[in-house]
Amino acid sequence: MAPMMKPTDLQNANLTWQDDGAPYSPDYDDVYFSREGGLAETHYVFLQANQLVARWQALDAELIASDSHAVFTIGELGFGTGLNFLSCWRLWQQTACQRLRLHYISCEKHPLTRDALGKALQQWSELAQFSEQFLRFYPDHSAGYHRLPLPDITLDLYYGDALALLQQQSSCDDSKIATPKVIPNARTDAWFLDGFTPAHNPALWSDEILQLIADRSRCGTTLSSYSVTGRVVRSLQAAGFTVEKQKGFGPKRVMLFAQFAGSTERRPDQSPDRTTAASIDGMAHRVRPETAIVIGAGLAGSTVARALANRGVQVTVVDKNVGIAQGASGNRQAVVQMRLNRQADTHWQFHVHSYLYALRYYQALSNQSDNALNWHPCGVLTLDSAYTHTRKAASADDYGHYPPTMLQSVTAADSEALCGIPLQEDGLLQPGGGWLNPAACCQLCLDHPLITVRTNTHVATLTQSTDHRWQVIDDQGQLTGSSDVVIIANSHAAGELAQTELYPVTALRGQVSHVSLTAASQALRSVVCSERYLAPAHGGLHCVGASYVKHSTDDQLSEAEHRENLQKLGNITTQLGFDEHSPATGRVGFRGSSQDYIPLAGAVPDPDLPELRYGSTQHTSAPPVEARLTGLYMSIGHGSHGTVSCPLLAEHVASLACGEYSPLPQPLADCVDPMRFIRRMRKRLR
Ligand code: SAM
Repeated sequence: MAPMMKPTDLQNANLTWQDDGAPYSPDYDDVYFSREGGLAETHYVFLQANQLVARWQALDAELIASDSHAVFTIGELGFGTGLNFLSCWRLWQQTACQRLRLHYISCEKHPLTRDALGKALQQWSELAQFSEQFLRFYPDHSAGYHRLPLPDITLDLYYGDALALLQQQSSCDDSKIATPKVIPNARTDAWFLDGFTPAHNPALWSDEILQLIADRSRCGTTLSSYSVTGRVVRSLQAAGFTVEKQKGFGPKRVMLFAQFAGSTERRPDQSPDRTTAASIDGMAHRVRPETAIVIGAGLAGSTVARALANRGVQVTVVDKNVGIAQGASGNRQAVVQMRLNRQADTHWQFHVHSYLYALRYYQALSNQSDNALNWHPCGVLTLDSAYTHTRKAASADDYGHYPPTMLQSVTAADSEALCGIPLQEDGLLQPGGGWLNPAACCQLCLDHPLITVRTNTHVATLTQSTDHRWQVIDDQGQLTGSSDVVIIANSHAAGELAQTELYPVTALRGQVSHVSLTAASQALRSVVCSERYLAPAHGGLHCVGASYVKHSTDDQLSEAEHRENLQKLGNITTQLGFDEHSPATGRVGFRGSSQDYIPLAGAVPDPDLPELRYGSTQHTSAPPVEARLTGLYMSIGHGSHGTVSCPLLAEHVASLACGEYSPLPQPLADCVDPMRFIRRMRKRLR
């Protein structure tokens, strides 16, 4: 398998512009779209050839009749200017399905810059309404997997080489789940092959890529392209497609249409069966949960509840507290700041991608709600003194693997222009970061017709019946409810449940201090961090936080921690007219912090695995399996960076639960997988 590309390995498209304003690639010596009616050609070759409208309508009618929901997934090779995507989105809106959702995934090796894309799309006034919404979220940097929070469609842009991207795509492969399969693997329903002509770009039409396409197809999946090269036709046939040459667009004689004839849907004990007959788009492979119970109404639970409700799942959110967002998610101001890694490793990629998604997520939520969540992407400046007691001082060279749009070195001399106040230290700026009100964010996420919230409900036990439904029982022994899936999103309290009691997530007390603004501090525009963060004033108060106290269950405010918070702001305080004795109010919360500082998100491992039961494999001679509990997921251990990790991991967990492609590629899904602790135990025991 090809190694994962680093976010900084990406090169934008090298373009020239033709007289009619159409983009052209000198590197591939080919056009992005036909100059004669590009929009009509897109419609003919991709949308019409794959019979999208008829298939969507038929599926939607079936879903309405069976009172259920499903997703239809399109995969594209070559996003280019997004013309295919935008036309497809428009057609999707016109079709107005009620129960079906659309997931569009596109691979692109050289994304256009935002300016070039804006220019290329200008000529399609029919698509202006869609282009405008799309451009607001379009990323033109960072290799990897980008999910865009568009209103009625899920768009994943995979940046890098299509071969590596498809190899690493998470396919919800549950072949290691010991219990019978309830949720099917993610599969693609239609493919648009649009990666320049095979003669000029053979790599994108290789046997390996076409085989991956087959592996990710279901029986009846369709595929189309304008190219009918003999080698491509033969490779597709060898991979299990029946291929037809159809009449081409306009003067073009032929185009390619293909349909996957075999099925890769299989039980763990079966080898791939290419002969299983199933009706095209049949409902049999689209069974998905209709009900969910989410335990925890903080940011992790609220975002996952919303991600499930967006997929048509009826969700009940239960919380032991008197209201939502009573834990660490209840602070007045929470900072959205990416964790920095000196190594360009998998953790770095996880932090980069969850941060980029979080910024888009909060922007979308802010746009929809008149900024009721108080999202302020004002930048986060981390001063060199932030590293005094933790690591060696930061130097820009240590972080050269971050794209400059995400991280910039700034000198003290620049600080006033950037943050509104002059500072005496150099630092690192995250220009897209900022702060928000996390409780308001939770409220907005939970404000959905398919979500019901039940507070004052302390879940004590989870049991699963033989039909795989979960029963949720409270601490009084009363049945709170039952559902197809349960998501444990109650931070360190996950330790109270038998299925998740052994995971290393501990409570870490954090006290935030609220100090009144001063004449000097009101000019502060960005979040500034030394060993503590200081947020710009809101409602006359600045939040300074937060303390880190291990092994404490005390929820009372502490004067000593106020003093420590202000002291650890370093010399910013004196400059702004505060000192450690400035009067402060505040709030205490408890973060759930994991042993390796990476959240735990995914399907819950079977607690009967010997490592979990006995702390070793020595009590069994059975070969190691990665058995998981069907329909039970977790999203916990977000620590002090939950504002960054919760939105993406909510999508990840909801995608796993619904048998959809996760926004995380497999290496990142493995990085957050709770199973990692069991794998580590096994390594140690070997
Ligand atoms: N579908 C596009 C549209 O609607 O504008 C047109 C795509 S253009 C004909 C082909 C695209 O394939 C280019 O943007 C190019 O950068 C991309 N591409 C070429 N080789 C690739 C590869 N190996 N992996 C991913 N994308 C690739």
